Amino acid sequence: MLKYFNYDIVFQEIPNEITLAINITCCPNNCSGCHSPHLRKDIGEPLTEVVIEDLIDRYGESITCICFMGGDNDPYEIERLAGFALSISNGLKIAWYSGRNTLPVNFTLKNFNYIKLGEYVEALGGLDKANTNQRFYAIDEDCTMKEIKFSGTDFSI
Ligand code: SF4
Repeated sequence: MLKYFNYDIVFQEIPNEITLAINITCCPNNCSGCHSPHLRKDIGEPLTEVVIEDLIDRYGESITCICFMGGDNDPYEIERLAGFALSISNGLKIAWYSGRNTLPVNFTLKNFNYIKLGEYVEALGGLDKANTNQRFYAIDEDCTMKEIKFSGTDFSI
């Protein structure tokens, strides 16, 4: 089961998208200089289809993308909920930010438009830093991953 702490509408996590970012807790990772230590705790409310449907009902007209921020404790539930969100989202893009360096075994990309991979290394920074170890990909219709490099205000494939 996944739990979430809160959500926010953000403008820089996904290039050219207005994104509803859902911050998921129980993070099993141990990134050096973790920027969100509260998300490693077992706190928050269950993230269910009902919650996602309610968020889309409330914010679907104001956003272009939904991003699951975390969820490495149960990535196949992310995969499942992404499929549910896609099925009711009426054209919204679907994204996942994982703190792992590789995708889970047999993970299906067909429900996603964007994937971020990579642990957070404080000295290297996040996707907006030139030397980041993190990688951001657009997912094609045939599920190939195309890396996008971006600085928060600019990006290129
Ligand atoms: S993925 Fe890393 S930075 Fe993000 S909450 Fe988990 S430990 Fe912290």
